[in-house]
Amino acid sequence: MEDCVFCNIIKGKIPAAKVYEDDNSITFLDIMPANKGHCLVIPKKHYETMLDIPDDQISNLMKTAKKVAKAISLSVGNGAYNIVMNNGQAAGQIVPHAHIHIIPRFDNDALKLSWSHKKYQAKEMEEFTNNIKKFL
Ligand code: AMP
Ligand code: ZN
Repeated sequence: MEDCVFCNIIKGKIPAAKVYEDDNSITFLDIMPANKGHCLVIPKKHYETMLDIPDDQISNLMKTAKKVAKAISLSVGNGAYNIVMNNGQAAGQIVPHAHIHIIPRFDNDALKLSWSHKKYQAKEMEEFTNNIKKFL
């Protein structure tokens, strides 16, 4: 896509600190890292969210995420990392080109990726389970 920042990184029109590339994906450092070494794994084709990525391509992307997570752990990290994918505006997605964040974690790094916990009322768990199952 013409005006997509990540498509422009793929085309080489915008510079990026690339750490890995294969036929279907590239991985580069996030320019505003949550922790140093934070990488983004993206498909070379423009897909907006995870659901837009065809089934036969998603496993390759996850394999790459695993490869990069291992490399981050062995280089900057100590084996701990978060994998985050924001899908949709309400989920915090700012760049509308699907991407997987891999964020190295360190003891006491004070990074907040946690959420507050809600409670189900009676029968609600059953309702949610049934509703979700309808769409599988
Ligand atoms: P998200 O909120 O999941 O859409 O995250 C988008 C991420 O892309 C943010 O963490 C940004 O720091 C990162 N980002 C945006 N532009 C660039 C760029 N030109 N190079 C590297 N990372 C970028
Ligand atoms: Zn794009």
